[in-house]
Amino acid sequence: MFDFLIIGGGIIGLLTAKELQKTGATVAIIEKNSPGQQATWAAGGILSPMRPWLYSSPVNAISSLSQRVYQQLSSELYEETGTDPEWLLSGMLVLYDNEMTQALRWCEQNDSPVEVLPVGTLNSQFRHLKPLAQPALYRSDVATIKPHKLSAALTQYLIAKGVSFYNAQEAKQLVSTGQSITGVQLEHSIVSASEYIICGGAWSPLLIPDACPKPIITPVKGQMICFPPTDIANQCMVMDGNRYIIPRKDGRMVVGSTRENTHFDASTTQEAFNDLKGFAQQLYPALNTIEPDAHWAGLRPSSPQSIPYICRVEPFNNLSLNAGHYRNGIVTAPASAELMADILLNRTSKIDPAPYKITR
Ligand SMILES: Cc1cc2nc3c(=O)[nH]c(=O)nc-3n(C[C@H](O)[C@H](O)[C@H](O)COP(=O)(O)OP(=O)(O)OC[C@H]3O[C@@H](n4cnc5c(N)ncnc54)[C@H](O)[C@@H]3O)c2cc1C
Repeated sequence: MFDFLIIGGGIIGLLTAKELQKTGATVAIIEKNSPGQQATWAAGGILSPMRPWLYSSPVNAISSLSQRVYQQLSSELYEETGTDPEWLLSGMLVLYDNEMTQALRWCEQNDSPVEVLPVGTLNSQFRHLKPLAQPALYRSDVATIKPHKLSAALTQYLIAKGVSFYNAQEAKQLVSTGQSITGVQLEHSIVSASEYIICGGAWSPLLIPDACPKPIITPVKGQMICFPPTDIANQCMVMDGNRYIIPRKDGRMVVGSTRENTHFDASTTQEAFNDLKGFAQQLYPALNTIEPDAHWAGLRPSSPQSIPYICRVEPFNNLSLNAGHYRNGIVTAPASAELMADILLNRTSKIDPAPYKITR
């Protein structure tokens, strides 16, 4: 019997486990595949909502709290495990669009460093980009991380700290008596704990018992491609409309992403490949002679207004939910995990938990 049983070993489940394990509690994670292989693996790893000025304050609250701890979290995991999650302060160039005034105002109001780079500066500093005819915003405080390295490091860290993993084991359903969950039904066994936390990403609603109000979480497919290492990328992320290019430390360039409602189909398509490749090549003309060497897709757990559910699930007295982070699950994960632990441990939280309830 564990103190806490987490269903889902994506970034949200892993960081929730880390927060709970810190208190000396016994923690286990049930994962139907291997940890960090679903949306978390597919993510670009931008440590900011792409356009924070378009998001509501509950999203920005957990995002900014998380941004403050990411560098230290990455260093801690590297030191403890030898796996480097590759936190990189790349900065973000936001090419001109009609949100410029709104974006500038948001950055100023939120103490987020921002500069308007004139055309001359842009074309000399970003010489591999296509010639630009409009000024652009430069946000120097935006960082990136490699999500699959982050989840690999976290898994190693948690195993070393004694967290139990039930890998390749699907939680079929929750077993209950009255208002208490008494176990999680796996294929051949039942695992029990004092508290149960659903961190199943896009699959989370499938595990919520009928007696509970249903969270609105639906899968939204995102496809990405990657170019092999070149010397043309400078270390700055570039965002143009809804598309972006993320530089990696080794010179690779990750290009994202699509937004598709395909239910639970996470297959890649030639159409998206061509679209993303075309976008990257018009932005960086030198990529015209280079073929992407990777293409993948993942299912984002979307939720109304992109506000995740981080709450207890009534009428049960020992069931909670931490899911629905949509496009921001990597950047918001540390603060989401901390808030979940605050709720479970009856601690005062740094942020108001009300906006993250199912019945909000
Ligand atoms: C293309 C793309 C790009 C993205 N880019 C970014 C970005 O740059 N920055 C950012 O912040 N966010 C980004 N995101 C969003 C981010 O990836 C997600 O919000 C985040 O990974 C969600 O984490 P999660 O742990 O909730 O879900 P997941 O990573 O999907 O993990 C859920 C886990 O639960 C397991 N599970 C589900 N049901 C069961 C069950 N019944 N039994 C056992 N296990 C179960 C699954 O196997 C899975 O491992 C991106 C997403 C995509 C798809």
